[in-house]
Amino acid sequence: MGTAVSLATENGGTVCAVVVGSEVKKYTDELIYWGADRVYLVEDQLFENYNNELYTKVLQKLAEKYDPEIILFGSVFDRRDLAPRLAARLGTGIISECNDLYYDEDKTLTAEKISFGGRFSGKVVFADGTRPYIVTARPGVLRGSRDVNRTGEVIMEVPDAGPQDMMTQIRSVAQAAKKVVALSDADIVVSGGKGAGGPEGFKLIQALADKLNGVVGASRMAVDLGWIGYEHQVGQAGATVKPKIYIACGISGASQHIVGMWESDIVIAINTHRYAAIFNFADYGIVGDMFEVIPKLIEELDK
Ligand SMILES: Cc1cc2nc3c(=O)[nH]c(=O)nc-3n(C[C@H](O)[C@H](O)[C@H](O)COP(=O)(O)OP(=O)(O)OC[C@H]3O[C@@H](n4cnc5c(N)ncnc54)[C@H](O)[C@@H]3O)c2cc1C
Repeated sequence: MGTAVSLATENGGTVCAVVVGSEVKKYTDELIYWGADRVYLVEDQLFENYNNELYTKVLQKLAEKYDPEIILFGSVFDRRDLAPRLAARLGTGIISECNDLYYDEDKTLTAEKISFGGRFSGKVVFADGTRPYIVTARPGVLRGSRDVNRTGEVIMEVPDAGPQDMMTQIRSVAQAAKKVVALSDADIVVSGGKGAGGPEGFKLIQALADKLNGVVGASRMAVDLGWIGYEHQVGQAGATVKPKIYIACGISGASQHIVGMWESDIVIAINTHRYAAIFNFADYGIVGDMFEVIPKLIEELDK
């Protein structure tokens, strides 16, 4: 929504949101608060669970009806699946996983992408004549602002899409037992890496996060070792975070981790290795053992 609002402000467009699902009307106000002028609501029991064939058809029909200039998706798992299908169906191009999106001086829609684990960054534009522009953006890269006084229009849509469009059928859905971690929206993230040494180390990291009202993040190494769930992973293959404070404990600072947290306002790194790469990205570096440093930090915070 933040990206959509900023593009519409730059180029004088209308921000529209699409909500597809069952019992999803409750989300329309929130989308308006975040900047939607208009919300297209497709609500039916049929859409309860995500199905790429059915959802593609719904969006194709809406795109054909309303002819949008740009279609934006947050780059999360189901939309990464949906966006390229929709692009193929509409016969257009797609720029995926962009970190920024704006109109340049010539009014050309320009996406900035970070690739190869943060080693390269570049600008990407669509070929002439490509329309609509389909772009997926990493969540949290461009935050909007919420205003409960904003008003907008909600339009019910009944697109011509149904069971006949589905080649696969969902028989049942299992919910993950673990609770969802609101990493992307957190103001304070305390992350642990291989230096945490095991699940015990993560208890200490959790204690510091609790003290700061923050959430726990992790490097991929810690996740792969089974010390903490994937829902906590920060980085290229995990969440992108942009907190006010990011505390990295026992994390070396590999580019694949950095790409997920480099836009944090303040970075504090705790690492035993004086020359760990993470210190290059830190505002405050503590060379030390996290098992000594974290209890001292908690003690100070208690005071
Ligand atoms: C395609 C691909 C995608 C990837 N995606 C991600 C991703 O999304 N997120 C991610 O994080 N990684 C990702 N990686 C992995 C990444 O390359 C690194 O391997 C990983 O980030 C390293 O994790 P780490 O820093 O915890 O471990 P290490 O690199 O082993 O670093 C551990 C650090 O802890 C320090 N340390 C040890 N003991 C202590 C102690 N007691 N107190 C304080 N410090 C201590 C050490 O000095 C060291 O710097 C990806 C890799 C690939 C190839």
